[in-house]
Amino acid sequence: MTHAVEIKDLHKSFGSLEVLKGVDFTVDEGQVVCVIGPSGSGKSTLLRCVNLLEQPTKGKVTVGGVELTDPDVDIDAARRRLGMVFQSFNLFPHMTVLQNVMIAQRRVLKRGKQEAERIARENLDKVGVGAKCDAYPPQLSGGQQQRVAIARALAMDPALMLFDEPTSALDPELVGDVLSVMRKLAQDGMTMLVVTHEMSFAREVADRVVFMDGGVIVEEGPPGQVIGDPQHARTRTFLRRVL
Ligand code: ADP
Ligand code: MG
Repeated sequence: MTHAVEIKDLHKSFGSLEVLKGVDFTVDEGQVVCVIGPSGSGKSTLLRCVNLLEQPTKGKVTVGGVELTDPDVDIDAARRRLGMVFQSFNLFPHMTVLQNVMIAQRRVLKRGKQEAERIARENLDKVGVGAKCDAYPPQLSGGQQQRVAIARALAMDPALMLFDEPTSALDPELVGDVLSVMRKLAQDGMTMLVVTHEMSFAREVADRVVFMDGGVIVEEGPPGQVIGDPQHARTRTFLRRVL
């Protein structure tokens, strides 16, 4: 069986700083993998290498059977299949919510205006902000903005969704709405790779949890094992701090 995502011996250096020191893991179709670990351990760099926002120094990244690190691959076409949601929402402040969710559909997928609008509305409804189509992002709460960002990614029909600490910038009372949207996506069978500090989310939703420290995977397994019964001292120390 081919994996939805396959990472093999992934290395990334910035100058003399080696941030990823040989990372291997896979995500199967429909699975949710949560990546946890201390700040600076390389989690964001890992996600950015998966969608080639960063060029890996060495190793292989394969998504949906297409090796993205193959120099001959059509990167733009391959990247279109990946949705990315960041800690900061990166919406265009001068465009309405609806326009924000339409623009990449129009420009990148070349969808017609009506189709793009229909798909935008569907996805905004799905994440619970359908009533905000005509608002501008600065008029929305952080939780609403992040849900618009999720709708924008979903509108591109991604085969894989990457989330980099999607709730870290939110006021605590807004975190739950975003997590419940992500929980619903997982239930609907979306393949997801999620960097998060939300241990209860990881415990409940992840099929597997990957604990990273110092640019390597220290341990991985089902959440009940990695979070519930960690085998490594480094994992235990980290969990004591965040739980
Ligand atoms: P995490 O997301 O786990 O907090 P990051 O992947 O953001 O960790 O960063 C890991 C290390 O890589 C940090 O030491 C960070 O300073 C360094 N780093 C990340 N991006 C760059 C970059 N573009 N240039 C230089 N160093 C970077
Ligand atoms: Mg990070």
